[in-house]
Amino acid sequence: MQIETLRRRLRALGANPRHQYRVLRLWSQAKPQDDGPRPIENFLPASLRAALPDIARDLAALATLDAEHPGEDGSRRLVVALADGQLVESVLMPTAGSRQRAPTLCVSTQVGCAVGCVFCMTGRAGLIRQLGSAEIVAQVALARASATVRRVVFMGMGEPAHNLDNVLEAIDLLGTAGDIGHKNLVFSTVGDPRVFEALQSRGADQVRPALALSLHTTRADLRAQLLPRAPRLTPEELVDAGERYARLTAYPIQYQWTLLDGINDSDEEIEGLVRLLQGKYAILNLIPYNAVDDLPYRRPAQEAAVAMARRLHQRGILTKLRQSAGQDVDGGCGQLRARAVQAQPP
Ligand code: SF4
Repeated sequence: MQIETLRRRLRALGANPRHQYRVLRLWSQAKPQDDGPRPIENFLPASLRAALPDIARDLAALATLDAEHPGEDGSRRLVVALADGQLVESVLMPTAGSRQRAPTLCVSTQVGCAVGCVFCMTGRAGLIRQLGSAEIVAQVALARASATVRRVVFMGMGEPAHNLDNVLEAIDLLGTAGDIGHKNLVFSTVGDPRVFEALQSRGADQVRPALALSLHTTRADLRAQLLPRAPRLTPEELVDAGERYARLTAYPIQYQWTLLDGINDSDEEIEGLVRLLQGKYAILNLIPYNAVDDLPYRRPAQEAAVAMARRLHQRGILTKLRQSAGQDVDGGCGQLRARAVQAQPP
């Protein structure tokens, strides 16, 4: 279901924009419909009041908890059932020990994914279907029923750029009625010109999310092998586009680098990163890979990852070595876990 479908249903029941906002606010913040000093029944049209229980039931059915897997690090992986029985994952990330992070939820935007990154389990199955904008918000509402969420990262299953309209519709709702700060909404992508166009053209009065770009290597040829169906932007073009958006919004771009032992941890890559990112308004997140059965990629030794982060830091690149949240839980999406991260000091 799309948020616009829900709005149409509310309008047909006589809801004006203020009524719609109220219903959407309570849903996206997982608050009961009678929350607040003035019960909602007092000022909604009678037709809408009568339909509220049905609407609440339909919204709750969009995303239900199929299973929950707690991690030793305090993360909680939620296996979420959609109304048609498809499963996606959301991850609630721990905040204990983190100095700056708001309580964060990582959400999925597609069932499966068409990008086919060679190190990712989700990519192996291809794209099964898009999530509707309401299904994306429903993951937040579901998580908020049992936890505080102040930051939402679109880094779960799927490539948000391939479901752009629905992801932006969900972002608009979460950044307004959902009460999530705009820079705490993080749009993650392998880099797609349509994303840069759509985000760049947003006015200052619109929700402008922060941006995370999956870089993974500074070599265009290696990037084409690792991300076989990502748009053919060179690393330089990706960073140029990211820098324009960072300057527009005044939030740094987060460059994601899944660290693969012996593949993208060489001296050549360190030099490439210094060349690409020095002086840029950027944070580099090094995320040691979570090895997945049947895939030939390995996680580098912790000391090697720490040394790489330190060398980059010394060369002026703001680098964070991040630990994957929920490493000890057996997730269906290797990269969901690999990107669901908490900061560690370099
Ligand atoms: Fe898709 Fe992300 Fe997996 Fe790549 S890493 S295949 S973009 S879900």
